[in-house]
Amino acid sequence: MRSLTISAALLAMMGLAVTTFSGCGANDAAVDQSQPIETAVQTDVDPEVAAELAKLPEVDRQLAAAQRICPVADGLLGSMGTPKKLTVEGRDVFICCEGCEEKLRSDPEKYFAKIDNQ
Ligand SMILES: [Zn+2]
Repeated sequence: MRSLTISAALLAMMGLAVTTFSGCGANDAAVDQSQPIETAVQTDVDPEVAAELAKLPEVDRQLAAAQRICPVADGLLGSMGTPKKLTVEGRDVFICCEGCEEKLRSDPEKYFAKIDNQ
């Protein structure tokens, strides 16, 4: 019976590893940048995105909705799960996942500009 317990523990660890390593980084290259205008005027809200934004507190939800995109991955906030809120140089910013935090902190001016000029 001991081997059963060990397998269960292994399975749990594998599940944890999968969760930890899933992120959006690999999708960066897949973003089609040939149609920026079409993306910018997109008003339809994906139900999945709306559901993720709805998990945020009301104040944060409005901020995230106004910001709309993750400045690092260029993806819609909410499309990679519940957006993550950061405060960088006194400014509240949302990113799509934890993988984007390091990049944002390494060059905040660049990403702030991206949000402001979207
Ligand atoms: Zn991300």
